[in-house]
Amino acid sequence: MTEPTTARLLIIGPPGAGKGTQAGLIAERYGVPAISTGDIFRANIKGGTELGKQVQTIIEQGELVPDELTNEIVADRLSQADAAAGFLLDGYPRTVDQVHALDAMLGGSSLDAVVLLEADADEVVNRLLKRAALEGRADDTEEVIRHRQDVYSAQTAPLIDLFSKRGILVSVDGLGTVDEVADRIASGLSAQLGAKVGQ
Ligand code: AMP
Repeated sequence: MTEPTTARLLIIGPPGAGKGTQAGLIAERYGVPAISTGDIFRANIKGGTELGKQVQTIIEQGELVPDELTNEIVADRLSQADAAAGFLLDGYPRTVDQVHALDAMLGGSSLDAVVLLEADADEVVNRLLKRAALEGRADDTEEVIRHRQDVYSAQTAPLIDLFSKRGILVSVDGLGTVDEVADRIASGLSAQLGAKVGQ
């Protein structure tokens, strides 16, 4: 089922909360592209591009890529035709400055809803360690994982309050099966966007 509305969406939550999986499902439901800055960076690292070389060490250390560079990549991606009718951002914005940059890119027509995927810190570290074993991600050693959680708490968690004040935050419990979490997100988003489930 595809929701009939146009939607500018964001999914936010600690590393390992399952954002990537849910992002794909939300994007499918709303018929919009899922845009993950982490995926864009990883593809560039894999492809050995100039951008990939610039960001590789930063990502391996679990630090954030500088706002200026990240903002430029997102502006470029959002200017592509498939994002005109809406999008689901995953992993961006991640700092207050990036929120302001995105506001400027969207020219006053801000995000419609922000899904906050809530997850317990110990649980997400365990999930990430499992994923590291399965996918062999270079940014997923235990030390780096813990550092990424700290970076999230310091730089990204403040966005929760910001979006809550804007009245667009949809908080969802991220624990459970993929389907259970997807159902919670779907009903939370439907309520927030005013769309009728089942249409
Ligand atoms: P993710 O897959 O979203 O966890 O991103 C993986 C890594 O890419 C992060 O740990 C950062 O190093 C980098 N990254 C992704 N998105 C951003 C962003 N919005 N700002 C800065 N760095 C980012």
